[in-house]
Amino acid sequence: MALEPRTERQKAAIEEVETYGAHNYSPLPVVISAAKGVHVTDLDGTTYIDCLSAYSAVNFGHGHPALLAAAEAQLARVTLTSRAFYSEPFGPFVKALAALCGKEMVLPMNTGVEAVETAIKAARKWGYESKGVAEGRAKIIVMEGNFHGRTTTVISFSNDPEARKSYAPYTPGFVQVPFGDADAIEDAIDDDTVAVLFEPIQGEAGVIVPPEGFLTKVREITRRRGVLMIADEIQAGLGRSGATFACDREGVVPDVYILGKALGGGIMPLSAVVADRDVLGLFQPGQHGSTFGGNPLACAIGSAVIELLGSGELQERSRVLGERFRAGLQPLLDAGWATEVRQAGLWLGVDVNPDLGTAKEICYRLMEREVLAKDTHGHTIRFAPPLVITEDQIDQVVAHTITAFEQAATQVR
Ligand SMILES: *Cc1c(COP(=O)(O)O)cnc(C)c1O
Repeated sequence: MALEPRTERQKAAIEEVETYGAHNYSPLPVVISAAKGVHVTDLDGTTYIDCLSAYSAVNFGHGHPALLAAAEAQLARVTLTSRAFYSEPFGPFVKALAALCGKEMVLPMNTGVEAVETAIKAARKWGYESKGVAEGRAKIIVMEGNFHGRTTTVISFSNDPEARKSYAPYTPGFVQVPFGDADAIEDAIDDDTVAVLFEPIQGEAGVIVPPEGFLTKVREITRRRGVLMIADEIQAGLGRSGATFACDREGVVPDVYILGKALGGGIMPLSAVVADRDVLGLFQPGQHGSTFGGNPLACAIGSAVIELLGSGELQERSRVLGERFRAGLQPLLDAGWATEVRQAGLWLGVDVNPDLGTAKEICYRLMEREVLAKDTHGHTIRFAPPLVITEDQIDQVVAHTITAFEQAATQVR
């Protein structure tokens, strides 16, 4: 199936990208020029429902009025000071984020992977300076199928061949265990283990929800064995899974939260590591940093994001509408067109029966029906619409999805 752009104009725009831009992505052939709320509009004025939300960075919808207002006000005052000086929005942001997480301290960075790197440094530092691990021996347990970003250290403990190939030598100090297997974590812990790093729900892997009780067990094991429990909530957190944090789904509080994506409201890259003083208090001046980390513009937006989450309304919407979305897709399973549907809040992974074609082909059919979703790992479609989506819009997306699958099932390819 040829995945052609819908018009000559978009075709030309895409050709420019593919000529001058490096080919490290394979986008659907649509060129977006504007967006508002759950909608994005292409170069030709066609409007789509965004069911990806920039991998959950746009959880509150495009151009949310409260976030735009915070950004515009700050844009006119001061946008960057570096951490050489204090800035006005920094204090209120770190105070509000610490409170949201129920923790004592915040270390802000920019992209998600920088926060993951920061958490790795924090865990090793804690291991050497507090736990008493011999220098150079710190070990961090990670999960198979993980996605924590793209730096050389972080891809060193990925088991996705595409993410790793040709980037050796890899950073040592990581041990993989199967995701969802608490006993395997317990078995992998030894005297040099400083942390268990995991996604409470694996996003890139296809919205993989661990067996119920897994997070509770990891909490119990890590506490008993004296290692840090580090939850990468960059994609799962801030309302996406139907709660403020995916760990809340089991009432579990990790030692360290890693946040990103939606924290910057889809306007600025803003990430953070959030933990108590016994961990983050170990950093001394000069031992870690970032020119743009904690910049005034990002902090002003971050504070507005935290305020949006304050009432719990968006988390509740995510929970209720997610269940509606999941129920609506039942016919796909009944017809055998989908082999599995996983869901947590407004976050769904739908495995396409390979007889119907690839997930990308279904996403293209959805694009033709003015719904934008994204495939992952060949056969999974990921849906993650902005949390401000309405019931009616969910029903529209469901109807279009069923039609797209039906077309794929009945048309000769
Ligand atoms: C997206 C993501 C990251 C990396 O964030 P970037 O901003 O792309 O660096 C890390 N961990 C998880 C779970 C993610 O989903």
